Amino acid sequence: MSAAPGGAGAGAAVELTERWLMNTYRRAPVEFVRGEGTRLWDAGGREYLDFLAGISVCSLGHGHPAVQGAIERQSRELMHVSNLFHSLPGAELGRRLCESSLGGRAFLCNSGTEANECAIKLVRKHAHRRGVERPRIVVLEGAFHGRTMGALSATPKLSDDPAFGPYLEGFDAVPRDDPGALADAVGADTAAVMLEPIQGESGVHVISPAVIEAAAEACGKVGAVLVFDEIQCGMGRTGSLWAYQQLGVTPGVLTTAKALGGGLPAGACVAAPPFSEVLEPGDHGSTFAGGLLAAAVAVAVLETIGDPALLAAVTARGERLRAGLESLAGVESVRGRGLMVGAALADGLDAPAVAARLLELGLIVNAPDSSTLRLLPPLTVSGDEVDSACALIAEAIA
Ligand SMILES: *Cc1c(COP(=O)(O)O)cnc(C)c1O
Repeated sequence: MSAAPGGAGAGAAVELTERWLMNTYRRAPVEFVRGEGTRLWDAGGREYLDFLAGISVCSLGHGHPAVQGAIERQSRELMHVSNLFHSLPGAELGRRLCESSLGGRAFLCNSGTEANECAIKLVRKHAHRRGVERPRIVVLEGAFHGRTMGALSATPKLSDDPAFGPYLEGFDAVPRDDPGALADAVGADTAAVMLEPIQGESGVHVISPAVIEAAAEACGKVGAVLVFDEIQCGMGRTGSLWAYQQLGVTPGVLTTAKALGGGLPAGACVAAPPFSEVLEPGDHGSTFAGGLLAAAVAVAVLETIGDPALLAAVTARGERLRAGLESLAGVESVRGRGLMVGAALADGLDAPAVAARLLELGLIVNAPDSSTLRLLPPLTVSGDEVDSACALIAEAIA
C-alpha cells in the first residue's frame, strides 16, 4: 500500500476517460484492474478492501466461481437470440424470481431504472382498467428510482432540475417518515405507492414499519398497487433474499437489478397475481432483456445468494460491522440492516473527505451526503475484513 490515488494507481484510463467519455460522473482518480473476493487492485498494484462492491452489484465479491462458471458455460453455448424466440435461462430466471418472492410473473430487463419503468407502465395500465383517467403515483422524499424519464420523474430531488423538464406528470412526493401524510396522499386516482424499503442513494434510511404499513393499507383501500423498489436492498443485502420478507408486508410489485446480474446488466419487475396479468403482448419489451448470458448468470447468482447459510452470514457480518462502527469515536449513529449500512459522522467531520482519505488508506466506501458513509461490502465479506474496515475508518476519522 504505497502509491497514492492519482499516482501509479490511476493508469491510462484517467486521461482517456477525460477526453472521450461524457463528463457525467465525478470519478476518483483510481483505475482498478483486478479483483478477488472483497479485494481490488489498481493499475499501480495497490490493494484495496472493497466495501462498496460496485454499489451493491458485486454482492458475491469479485471473481466468484458461480458467476465465472455461468459466463464461461453460457458464452460457449449461445449468447443472444432475441425475445422473438424461447430460451431456457430467461425462463428459468423468471421461475426462480417468482417462486422466491411474489409468485405471479416477471418481466426481465437490463437495469434498475428499466425495472421501475416496467412497474410504472404496469400500475398505470392497472389504474386505467380501474377507470382512473389520470393515474398518480405516490413516492417518498429522498427516493431514488433511476435516471430514465419515468423513473427520474419518480425521483423527487432529481426531478427538481429544470434542465431536463418537462418530467412525466402524476408523481406526488411525501415525507419518508410520516405515515399520516402518506395515507392522505393516496386517493381514488392513485395507481401505486412506490418506495424503497431502505433508501440507498439518499444515505441508507430505513423506512419505518408505520410508513410501510400505512402504504399497504392505503393501497388496499383504493385498489392501488404497492411497489417495492428492492434494486439496492434486495438480493440478500439485508440478510433475507428480499427486504420485504423482514417487514410483514408483501408488495404487489417488486423491482430488482444491481446484484441480480453478478456484474452483468440484469433487472426484473416481478408482479404478484393479478397484477402479473396486466401487461400483454406488445405492451412492453427490450431487445437485450432476458438475454441468455445475463440470465444464466442471474440464475447462478440467485441460487448462490438464496443459500440460507450465506444469508445468515450477512446478518452476522452486518451486526459485527454495525457494532464496530458504533464503537468508533466520530461515528454518531449507524443506520441500515444487514450489510446495507450508513454511518452518520459526528459534526465537524466531512464524509466525502473521510471517504477520500479511506481510499488513500485502501478502503473503498461511498459518501452519499456530507455526513454519511455508506458501506455495501460483498455479502461474502469475512469477519476479519469487517474488522479491518472498521480499523481503517477509525484511522481516517482520527
Ligand atoms: C441503483 C438504483 C436504481 C437504478 O438502477 P440502474 O441500474 O442504475 O438504472 C433504482 N432504484 C434504486 C433503489 C437503486 O439503488
